[in-house]
Amino acid sequence: MPSSSQSKNGSIDLHLSNSTKRGQQPPDEVKNPLRSSVARKPRRLKPVLEHHYAMMKYEVLLIQVDGKLPNLALMKLAHWHRSQGHRVTLIRRRRRDLFDPAYDTVYASAIFSDSNKFFPQIKSDWPNVTFGGTGTANPLTVESLIGKDYEFYDYHDYPDFTESIGFTKRGCRLSCKFCVVPQKEGKPYFLNSINNIWRGAPYPRKLHLLDNDFFGHESWRDHIREIIDGNFHVCLSQGINVRMITTETAEALASIQQ
Ligand code: SF4
Repeated sequence: MPSSSQSKNGSIDLHLSNSTKRGQQPPDEVKNPLRSSVARKPRRLKPVLEHHYAMMKYEVLLIQVDGKLPNLALMKLAHWHRSQGHRVTLIRRRRRDLFDPAYDTVYASAIFSDSNKFFPQIKSDWPNVTFGGTGTANPLTVESLIGKDYEFYDYHDYPDFTESIGFTKRGCRLSCKFCVVPQKEGKPYFLNSINNIWRGAPYPRKLHLLDNDFFGHESWRDHIREIIDGNFHVCLSQGINVRMITTETAEALASIQQ
């Protein structure tokens, strides 16, 4: 049987016993210690392979460039990539860390145009980055990236956020010159019910609705009814367009818990 000892330079030396003479075939464990031990005990193979494949996983990095609330586009990407078996990491820093692995795919999402000043550094640290979000000129959407509609969100990277977040509708009736919403989303259209946005028990009945134009689509009456019936507290994070408030919409706002 072989024995081993550590040399001064830290390498491991294998010493063969008398039975392994020059010209003789060394035992299996000397030729390939890993293979021979696995071959003798097949049950060891599974954890070895699992570790091997885990080490080879496709690595995805998601960078939240700005914003305090969870980033829905990144949550969607996280959900989709994890469903593909990829390893996903979400960070809020804009510099590469000494211990960062090499990522196969990198996305950076910015919601404010002022965040453009961070892009050169991000691009320098991760040359394969794809920028997106309302703070960029890139009209790319998650759906165009993955090739289909996708309304699944992964909250895993925001463990301290217990509320539920989403859009009941997309688009806007107005066309403010400085805004990319009309260009990216067009006229208002229904997207999600209140009950679908809520994560369900045990999460609180508190919602962050990100609609740019909550009253822009006729489905708003259904959403108000769902909010009241479900006893939800709602934060309309993007605000309400006061230029288009009517008596009916004002009464609806007064009827819900905010
Ligand atoms: S109202 Fe708001 S979302 Fe609509 S176009 Fe103007 S800035 Fe954009």
